[in-house]
Amino acid sequence: MRQDYFVLFACCIPVKGHSRSTICDLQRNSFELIPNILFEILTEHEGKAMQTIFATYHHEYNREIEEYLDFLVEKEYGFYSAEPQSFPKLDLTWHNPFPVTHALVDFDEKSKHPLPHIVKQLTAMFCPAIELRFFHAPSLEVLENTLQTFQDSPFRSVQMIAGYSKDLTIAQLTALAYQYPRLQSLVIHSTPSENIPASSDISIPHLTFIEQNLSSEACCGNISPRYFTVNRQFFTEAQTFNSCLNRKISIDKRGFIKNCPSMTQHFGHIEATSLADVVKQQAFQKAWHISKDQVTTCQDCEFRYVCHDCRAYVANPGNALSKPAKCRYNPYEATWEAATIG
Ligand code: SF4
Ligand code: SF4
Repeated sequence: MRQDYFVLFACCIPVKGHSRSTICDLQRNSFELIPNILFEILTEHEGKAMQTIFATYHHEYNREIEEYLDFLVEKEYGFYSAEPQSFPKLDLTWHNPFPVTHALVDFDEKSKHPLPHIVKQLTAMFCPAIELRFFHAPSLEVLENTLQTFQDSPFRSVQMIAGYSKDLTIAQLTALAYQYPRLQSLVIHSTPSENIPASSDISIPHLTFIEQNLSSEACCGNISPRYFTVNRQFFTEAQTFNSCLNRKISIDKRGFIKNCPSMTQHFGHIEATSLADVVKQQAFQKAWHISKDQVTTCQDCEFRYVCHDCRAYVANPGNALSKPAKCRYNPYEATWEAATIG
């Protein structure tokens, strides 16, 4: 027999948007679109007995409410219970012991900033993840020397993007990935379409060839459902912090220390300034605290805790809190300019 109360699993969290809502499932790392009326039932009437909820809507929608909740049971977002108080909510406080959680370092053929010097400083801060973007096509030797720099370091993840060169073969890149297990992804950009290998020719999942030209920092900041991240770490961080820049430090292709290489404001040059000193500065940390709930339009979007933010390219450059310029979603109409989901 059905129990009196409906309870969402603690890892399934409703997020309200202007036109529709989501339930973010932080255990299965996915989300479900739901109508705002269901969000209302799940939040404003949370903990109320089913009969009380029916009465709130004057018993006019009993069948519809039951159908909605049965749908959530079927999809394993929730369950019926006689003891809803026995199921506490998930703590959404974000904790992280590292002063810097990720670093982004850019290079082009004119770059002179020495990676070992940067890695040494990041290592002292226990930075766990780094992304290296080569806007040009580095040689195999440069890629090898780069990865060699991370041997005996505490980095857990190294991601690289590099320009296409016909001298870099799949066999060489695969051998590199085997030799350096910290290499979590290697994306070869600007690959001529006729040279994109078939996926069956690539034996490792983290090697990708793309046609897209990523030859400058301006390639960054795109917003798309493809880049949504649904997990507890991201969701909890996005409650209060910026989902791109929090605890991030960047070194642009000329060696200037910034929140993000695409931003104009810098905090000194890597040759003269210590990264640890920059990280402590209030002015540097300011961008860390811009959450989606403060950003215009995003604050009304049902995707705001799974969507990466961008503070470098904003829709209204005069307003630091305006929506990312490269977002094509309109939460007021629930439509994507180029494509529609849901
Ligand atoms: S702020 Fe924008 S451009 Fe800068 S790293 Fe983030 S997404 Fe990329
Ligand atoms: S409006 Fe665009 S950038 Fe803002 S949260 Fe929604 S999808 Fe992301």
